[in-house]
Amino acid sequence: MEIILLKMGEMVLKGLNRSRFEASLLRRLRAVLEPFGPFELTSRQSAVYAVPTGDKCDVSGAYAAALKVFGFSAVCRAIRCEKEMESLKQSALLLPELKEAASFKVEARRADKRFPLTSPEICAELGGFLHETLGIPVSVRNPGEIVWAEVRESAAYIHARPAEGAGGLPPGTAGSAALLLSGGIDSPVAGWRMARRGLSLLPIHFESYPYTSPEAREKVITLARILAEWCGRMTVRIISLTAIQEAIRKECPEELATLLTRRSMCRLASSVALRNGAGALVTGDSLGQVASQTTEALAVTEEAASLPVLRPLVGMDKEEVSRTARKIGTFETSILPYEDCCGLFTPRHPQTKPRLEAVKRAEELFDFRTLEAETLKSVTKTDV
Ligand code: ATP
Ligand code: MG
Repeated sequence: MEIILLKMGEMVLKGLNRSRFEASLLRRLRAVLEPFGPFELTSRQSAVYAVPTGDKCDVSGAYAAALKVFGFSAVCRAIRCEKEMESLKQSALLLPELKEAASFKVEARRADKRFPLTSPEICAELGGFLHETLGIPVSVRNPGEIVWAEVRESAAYIHARPAEGAGGLPPGTAGSAALLLSGGIDSPVAGWRMARRGLSLLPIHFESYPYTSPEAREKVITLARILAEWCGRMTVRIISLTAIQEAIRKECPEELATLLTRRSMCRLASSVALRNGAGALVTGDSLGQVASQTTEALAVTEEAASLPVLRPLVGMDKEEVSRTARKIGTFETSILPYEDCCGLFTPRHPQTKPRLEAVKRAEELFDFRTLEAETLKSVTKTDV
């Protein structure tokens, strides 16, 4: 019978907290596998076995979904069989990976010490059999494929080289944070990176309708949906910045417009975050990418936040970020050409070395506080 075998990642280092991490991990895995039929989950040492119960289970679908569960370092499809050499041999013949391999070797692990053969003996016998039957050469140093034979207490398992799991820590184990989600390439990746460190996300998107379009909003919801495949259900909050941006354009020095908008975003996001018990803000800022991402500009922006601002992409270049965006599935949506509110009324000569006093003086030119309080009264929520 085919099952899914998952190896826990770094949470096995968690000592006394481990049971809490493990419970979150299993809860998340159960939710992810649910649409693919009833699976029974058992965890032993640092592995989780997902065993289909009944014929209605979609093991391929479940496997693909399991690759997106944070907290597992490796995932593979494995064949569960009797603890007998003949059964191990016949199971290994079924491995699709082996049929395409140029060379192979066998690795064995024997947890059940009552099994009559030692691990090296299992390797020798199974390796010899597969070599003779399939005609594939054995290469111990540089094998094209590795056949794992694991003899556990309750059963034996055969599998090929596992795929890399999503890694990181289970969702929610590090608390929660508000993700400032634009429609660009960076912020979904930033959110994914922090979710992978155990944060559950509360996405916030700022729009300036009618300057920004309904399509721009839809695009952000789509991005949040893609993120939800990794992080689980979330509620996206859409906040309208139209009134604030219009006031900034009318009342404030042009070269500070972007910074003032950013600071307003930080204050609004902090309020929403605090109201919902979140402990940080997450942004997709990357140092030096645009005028508002110099150290001076970041300092002035972050001064307006009342929570720590996490910027997981700060030291990454666009190529690295794009690669991750492709891997997590957000890239194609991110490059759809819709205007972000940050691109509105952009100054011809933005201030790259702003001084906080000057920015604060500009913030006295109209009543930001009242306008922001007004803005927070009409936040739209969408569950993804
Ligand atoms: P991205 O690709 O994420 O849009 P970017 O490189 O275009 O980032 P900026 O537009 O300068 O950079 O934005 C920097 C960060 O500010 C974004 O990564 C995001 O976290 C936040 N941000 C910008 N615009 C918005 C918005 N409309 N709603 C929510 N957050 C935003
Ligand atoms: Mg952007």
